[in-house]
Amino acid sequence: MGRTHAIVIGGSFAGLAAGRVLNDFFDRVTVLDRDIFPAGAADRAGVPQARHVHGLLLRGLHEYERFFPGFEALAIERGATFHDHTYDFAVLRPQGWTPRYRSGLKFLSASRELIESCVRDLFRRLPKVELRERAPVIGLAIDKYGAPRCRGVIVPRGSLASGSSDSTAAGNQEILDADLVVDASGAMSRAPQWLAAAGLHPPDETIVDPLAGYSSRWFQGPPPERWPDDWWWWAGAYIRRRPDDLVEANFQLKEHNRWHLTLSGFNRRYPPTDETGFTAFIERLRSPVIVAMTRLMEPISPVYANRAIRNRRRHYERWNERLDGFIAIGDSFCAYNPVYAQGMTAAAMSATMLRGCLERLGPAEGALAREFHRAEAEIQHGPWMLSAGVDLRFPFTAGDRPLSLKLFNQYLDRIGAAASDSVVRTRLLEVAQLVRPFDDLFEPSIMMRVGARTVAHAAASLAHVFSRNGAREIPPMPPPPTLADPPSTRTAA
Ligand SMILES: Cc1cc2nc3c(=O)[nH]c(=O)nc-3n(C[C@H](O)[C@H](O)[C@H](O)COP(=O)(O)OP(=O)(O)OC[C@H]3O[C@@H](n4cnc5c(N)ncnc54)[C@H](O)[C@@H]3O)c2cc1C
Repeated sequence: MGRTHAIVIGGSFAGLAAGRVLNDFFDRVTVLDRDIFPAGAADRAGVPQARHVHGLLLRGLHEYERFFPGFEALAIERGATFHDHTYDFAVLRPQGWTPRYRSGLKFLSASRELIESCVRDLFRRLPKVELRERAPVIGLAIDKYGAPRCRGVIVPRGSLASGSSDSTAAGNQEILDADLVVDASGAMSRAPQWLAAAGLHPPDETIVDPLAGYSSRWFQGPPPERWPDDWWWWAGAYIRRRPDDLVEANFQLKEHNRWHLTLSGFNRRYPPTDETGFTAFIERLRSPVIVAMTRLMEPISPVYANRAIRNRRRHYERWNERLDGFIAIGDSFCAYNPVYAQGMTAAAMSATMLRGCLERLGPAEGALAREFHRAEAEIQHGPWMLSAGVDLRFPFTAGDRPLSLKLFNQYLDRIGAAASDSVVRTRLLEVAQLVRPFDDLFEPSIMMRVGARTVAHAAASLAHVFSRNGAREIPPMPPPPTLADPPSTRTAA
């Protein structure tokens, strides 16, 4: 027929964003997912991580809006809200409470199900795409004559319910032909096994395992009049781990005044998976801010738990094999500890990068996969360093620690200690939220400010040690309440 066809494996964020881009370069795009998609913002089996707290960074919002005009309005219509993470949200870091200020970086707060349903519904309106449910891919069809080329995917025979003009059946399998196959099947992608089955060495993997576990629960929030006036953190609170306390709690307001609480523990300090244990765990957190909030609320879900979450990077960018017609995108390429909520945004940025490669090289060019994987590795470098890299500062985390990483973590500690400098603070936030490239953390002007603060801190510590009255440092902001010491916070901006 001469019509070009692209297949995407996986209809979640990376798959839908990639499919959106391919819509502009191929005559047909088929997205295959093993799941059945719910009609609205509801849970589904194929993305177990959705049961833990998710939100979308400003950069991600812009990317999805560009791909799917009307995305933001639709999300708001369905109940999403915006907040400023440094102004409306209380964050307890190892160094203390984050100073409160307006960053101007809005964060789209909604359940992952809601965000995904908006992207999916807008995707379905595209002219050349087809989103097929209950369509599990079980292998890659690879031609090995000359330069190896991926020519399609293998599915169980009969799984493409309405049949397909470009499929061929053999035994209990069927091959669906394509000019380009995109693996967007997530962190647990089986592409490495499929490549091995076709006689190719899969790409090297880096796994950084902080032995983490997650448990989450939904709550119904109180009516507004029950929320204390001086609890300014109306959008939520986040307690981050520190070396002597390896647990985190992230509690966020979502649509329809529902709240989502995710507890995480590292080095096998897994949070409980039962309701009684979950409640007891919240009471033992190092700040009582979260338990105080839950006491105003009603639990409305069971506790959902997950322990299979690791940082994982598949190095397609330095893969020795050549395989034309196949690319990996999103979590199937690189997945990490979600400490900065970057995964859905990085998936969309990678899809934008795919567009750039397709514009430059065209869809039929053999070098497309290699070029794209190199570009994608650059995008994923910053998120990886801020998640897997930071996990590696803990001695129990399994993984290699090159000197560059140790230096980076020391620098990051200094940045954390320099948080009273608004320029440094803002820079870290912008890099973490992917509105600036990772390298901007190392601009000379920023490094000088971090250095100056480090010296000032050292001098202040010495002054403290030698001062006769031991004058105490004034904290940068009034902290959220302790239960023993009821809230007395006023706006500190
Ligand atoms: C606890 C936790 C919290 C997180 N919080 C955030 C956050 O706040 N913000 C953020 O941006 N990111 C967050 N993330 C990361 C985010 O969930 C992922 O980065 C994102 O889902 C990646 O999208 P994806 O499309 O690559 O993969 P996935 O979302 O995992 O989707 C993979 C899709 O492929 C399908 N599939 C799998 N195998 C097959 C197959 N063989 N055939 C057909 N279909 C298949 C699945 O059904 C699924 O639909 C978090 C992650 C975790 C673990």
